[in-house]
Amino acid sequence: MTQMKTRTTFQSINPARPTEVVGHVEDQSLEEIAEIVARAKRAQLRWSKLPSPERGMYLHRAADQLQLQLEDISITMTKEMGKTLAEAKGETARGVAILRYFAGEGMREIGQVIPSTDADAVMYTTRCPLGVIGAITPWNFPVAIPLWKIAPALAYGNTVILKPAEETSVTAQKVIACFQEAQFPEGVVNLATGQGSEIGKALVEHPHVSAITFTGSNLVGKQIGHSALERGAKYQLEMGGKNPVIVTKNADLDVAVEATISGGLKSTGQKCTATSRVIVEEDVYDDFKEKLLNAVEKITVGDGLKANTWMGPLATKAQFQNVLEAIDKGKKEGATLLTGGNRVSSLDGYFVEPTVFETVDHSMSLAQEEIFGPVLALFRVAGIKEAIELANDSIYGLSASIFTTNIQEMLTFTSDMQAGLIRVNAESAGVELQAPFGGMKNSSSHSREQGRAAIEFFTSVKTVFVKG
Ligand code: NAD
Repeated sequence: MTQMKTRTTFQSINPARPTEVVGHVEDQSLEEIAEIVARAKRAQLRWSKLPSPERGMYLHRAADQLQLQLEDISITMTKEMGKTLAEAKGETARGVAILRYFAGEGMREIGQVIPSTDADAVMYTTRCPLGVIGAITPWNFPVAIPLWKIAPALAYGNTVILKPAEETSVTAQKVIACFQEAQFPEGVVNLATGQGSEIGKALVEHPHVSAITFTGSNLVGKQIGHSALERGAKYQLEMGGKNPVIVTKNADLDVAVEATISGGLKSTGQKCTATSRVIVEEDVYDDFKEKLLNAVEKITVGDGLKANTWMGPLATKAQFQNVLEAIDKGKKEGATLLTGGNRVSSLDGYFVEPTVFETVDHSMSLAQEEIFGPVLALFRVAGIKEAIELANDSIYGLSASIFTTNIQEMLTFTSDMQAGLIRVNAESAGVELQAPFGGMKNSSSHSREQGRAAIEFFTSVKTVFVKG
């Protein structure tokens, strides 16, 4: 009699309608993870020996597949984590562009020729892959973040195991299917599904996973960093933020209001680069506040699949509860609630009203803790100096923006602001795939992702000295 192996699965839920199951995902066992790692390790040498332009062609084929599946993957993303369909489509299109950008890496230079003190020698650097990469990703950008890790890892000759967030594993399955359709060799691109504390941890601790690239919370990131360091694996951590926008008396207030709303509340405030602290110069504070509240009150909240929805639900029940608790804590600490602050009672899902607080003391939790929800806190300051001091008063340093037409204020801000992404007259959220991305302070392990910076993490430099 053949014994049937029982498969355990977990459900992926639609946060706009929590009774709707979007899909079932396998809770893989530790034995299965060990097999996946072994497969990825076996495939790596062969993959790394392909000429890099040929690896690039595989990435182009994956981009073609993702483009073909754009509509379906975007709908799945909206159902799984709630962002509006327009945002989901934008993200998936970005995924296509990421694959194409890193496909092109196969044709670009990977080293330098360095003059030697020996006249008969040639000295140069080249880059080699690390081996098997474990990519551990969050639910807020379920297509773009996995791809901005997977694409460079593959382009430089590594094989990859993606461990997506539990909440968006159905989207991840569809993304990985694009690589299968593009006929990547067996074992080059792999998916590991299950709980982070078990499956993610197993990848981090596996001796044959050479490097871990992680995006997610500070708590988990730090644990991963410790484990990776202990066994000598390379690691990269991209974590939280508490991103400020400064609005000075020299700003175009209408532009600043629109960008504050878009940067703070799009994706229901669940972008790592989302605006959360709004620091406004006193001369324009009242005008700005009035315009901001008028605009916030017009926001339509609902199911992201509906065409007129501007803001969807929070992605998970835990997020929903965390955000309501953070709002409650803000009120208890004495901040003034200007608008919002409640769940949307007319809707069944994990919907919270767009919320704005003011007169917040900068030591309060609303000013210091990452909320990751549709909550803005306003601060009144005397001028640019105080604004930048406040903006820098955070353990995080991911992104920051300023609205001003004054060149001196722009220069002071770009020079003194401690953040990895600085934006002038543009919202704090907004990452271009061809530029380096990452944070300062507790937002990152001080490495950078995307653009040409990706080569630093996904390869190791070899210095070669050849004497004839
Ligand atoms: P999370 O840390 O809870 O989970 C991230 C991933 O880690 C998931 O895949 C999860 O399964 C896995 N994981 C959990 N415990 C693990 C463990 N012990 N070992 C290994 N893996 C484990 O984060 P989240 O709630 O999914 O995402 C929200 C956070 O992500 C926010 O803090 C946000 O700021 C951050 N984020 C940062 C960036 C950035 O680029 N800096 C981008 C997006 C999101």
